[in-house]
Amino acid sequence: MNIIKSSKALNRYLNTIREGDSKVTIGFIPTMGALHQGHASLIDESVKNNACTVCSIFVNPTQFGDEADLDKYPRPIEKDIKLLMEHGCSILFLPAYEDVYPKNYTHKEFELNNLDHKIEGASRPGHFQGVSNVVSRFFDIIEPTYAYFGQKDFQQTAVVRRLIEICKYETTLKIVPIKREPHGLAMSSRNVRLSDKGRKNAAFIYKSLTQLRDDVPELGLKESVSKAKQFISAQKGARVDYLVAVDSKTLEEVDQIDDAESIAVLTVVEYEGVRLLDNIILK
Ligand code: AMP
Repeated sequence: MNIIKSSKALNRYLNTIREGDSKVTIGFIPTMGALHQGHASLIDESVKNNACTVCSIFVNPTQFGDEADLDKYPRPIEKDIKLLMEHGCSILFLPAYEDVYPKNYTHKEFELNNLDHKIEGASRPGHFQGVSNVVSRFFDIIEPTYAYFGQKDFQQTAVVRRLIEICKYETTLKIVPIKREPHGLAMSSRNVRLSDKGRKNAAFIYKSLTQLRDDVPELGLKESVSKAKQFISAQKGARVDYLVAVDSKTLEEVDQIDDAESIAVLTVVEYEGVRLLDNIILK
């Protein structure tokens, strides 16, 4: 695996590959590091389908509202490199802040059709504009054929789909299913902040989502959502930040299963001081 730290060097290297073979495809996985098996499933998907896989590790300050959260973000780089090598990644892109955001860079405000303001965006103002800025910088540098994002960050996939549309990127978005711990908790770099017991207990989040899915035929969507919220709130130390059923494309809230062609339920639960994201696709 090649480790490249400069965007110019990466761009040059990828252009050489493209010039050598016009049919070559490049798969790209943007990450913030502290890699786990969830990230690995994105790498595997890209390695399977592309001659060249680029993974970036960059803890993007513009998508953190809370400085303490940014400072606390784990950065186990040696372990990350090992995982990437084991999974056959071709290039690790490891840029410095000044390379991603040079002095003359002006932070852009993308027209995201309001996708950035609702749900997770309401809890984290500016977050999705920060994500869009870093993703568009990386797309400009890498010009990937395919970009792999996790279903785990469901709203992020809707934002990236919109970004590709408005910037007319020739990149195709690929969404990879959520990888879970054996007991059901969605894998996340933040899970290391949970106690061992908390990590096992937090399976109640996924349990509430699967129960919700099973409840819908009998109780209807609205009632099932409300039951799931009550179930989570009844768990000691858990607080529901949000739990909403939405149209998968517009992220508008829906009350009934027939209200949209595709529906997902998105949730964030605060548990042991950690924000845990999860979701389930209902249809
Ligand atoms: P992050 O490093 O948290 O920015 O995540 C990088 C990418 O990995 C994003 O596209 C995430 O959605 C994806 N990802 C994170 N956790 C998981 C998981 N448990 N399963 C699948 N993909 C994931």
